[in-house]
Amino acid sequence: LSAEEQEVLDAIETENVDFVRLQFTDITGTVKNVSIPAHQVEKAFEEGIWFDGSSIEGFVRIQESDMRLEPDPSTFAVLPWRSNGNSASARLICDVVNTDGTPFDGGPRQVLKRVLARAEEMGYTVSIGPEPEFFLFEKDEEGNATTIPHDSGGYFDLAPKDMASDVRREIIFTLEEMGFEIEASHHEVADGQHEINFKYEDALAAADNIATFRAVVRAVAEQNDIHATFMPKPISEINGSGMHSHISLFDEDGNAFDDPDDEFNLSETAYQFMGGILNHAEAFTAVTNPTVNSYKRLVPGYEAPVYVAWSDTNRSALIRVPDAAGASSRFEIRSPDPSCNPYLSLAAVISAGLDGIENDADPGKPVREDIYEFTDEKREEYGITTLPGSLDEAVDALEEDDVIREGLGEHVVEKFIEAKRADYADYRVFVSNWEKEKYLEKF
Ligand code: GLN
Ligand code: MG
Ligand code: MG
Ligand code: MG
Repeated sequence: LSAEEQEVLDAIETENVDFVRLQFTDITGTVKNVSIPAHQVEKAFEEGIWFDGSSIEGFVRIQESDMRLEPDPSTFAVLPWRSNGNSASARLICDVVNTDGTPFDGGPRQVLKRVLARAEEMGYTVSIGPEPEFFLFEKDEEGNATTIPHDSGGYFDLAPKDMASDVRREIIFTLEEMGFEIEASHHEVADGQHEINFKYEDALAAADNIATFRAVVRAVAEQNDIHATFMPKPISEINGSGMHSHISLFDEDGNAFDDPDDEFNLSETAYQFMGGILNHAEAFTAVTNPTVNSYKRLVPGYEAPVYVAWSDTNRSALIRVPDAAGASSRFEIRSPDPSCNPYLSLAAVISAGLDGIENDADPGKPVREDIYEFTDEKREEYGITTLPGSLDEAVDALEEDDVIREGLGEHVVEKFIEAKRADYADYRVFVSNWEKEKYLEKF
């Protein structure tokens, strides 16, 4: 066993851990668990744990179903909501490997690792600071989720209006117990809506954190008998939930995105990376915004991006440059939503950015005006395109983009497209309330 693995075994002793959940995500981002008794962890480190991959969405066919989980010891964490002094549960995040010990191409964490290895070859590590938003809703008498907000606070409001702040505090304490560094948290614009910002981390840790974060928020909400949701647009005509992600690259000299001589403190590398993101935005949207519902958020008027452009002021643009300098010079991409698979989403966005560096991509000039107000002609004049309007359009764009396809790998792309096309086909035949209200009496 490595020193790090031995430390996990020691922690299992001192923290009275009885069960360890081995976690990984499927292609849609759902967290899967295999629970093992604590005394099996040593064996899991030595040999991995076998499971049947054919029952996991987007993994393998029945005839090649044996797969192995290899726990990453650096991800060990006790689950505070499953623990008291005498008996605790913990988790380890795992990589998925094939029978022959090679990495499994369809494992989302593996896909991100491969993209980060490419960044590393180019001399960079990638830092990501995610800002997931979510809603807390009441449950009805039967315990089912409603869309009635748990509170009626507004942007940055505090108690007593922000009744959910106790729940949010409990979420943050739980995250901190699990080793998170929380930068800030606040009530969002909509009733019942919240945002929690993590300190930036290496992209792999950031993706692990997002997966963990969603589990923590759901578990703590559940304990308080309320429903937490990361659905991108749970209520029409009200802000949806995004997951802005702040990005910077570091090299051996520090922040490779920083240039104190630039108006926005951004370097040539930063602009190239940004240019790559703008060039491939239509294609990676299927991954950063992977549900039918995601596209109800990406509409004008609710602080969500619609246009493929960048700005220092404008929240309708895909990329915003915050006022920051030195080690903090960075930009944020505003389109991802919290229903995405964080590993695939970061893999796709980073692939786009690296391609920008390799091909000297040019993001053009910042757009300072409100693009929501532009006419089609003016948008064309500025060279501003729009993000896909539906999951189906987004999948079309993904299909055609070789850079994003290569970043994700053919295995994932094929399974992902298959799953998304099926979702859309299912949605397309459903007759909604909107249609009934609009047409039932009119025709
Ligand atoms: N909720 C908005 C979105 O959908 C963002 C609002 C904000 O953080 N200013 O992206
Ligand atoms: Mg924010
Ligand atoms: Mg926000
Ligand atoms: Mg933000």
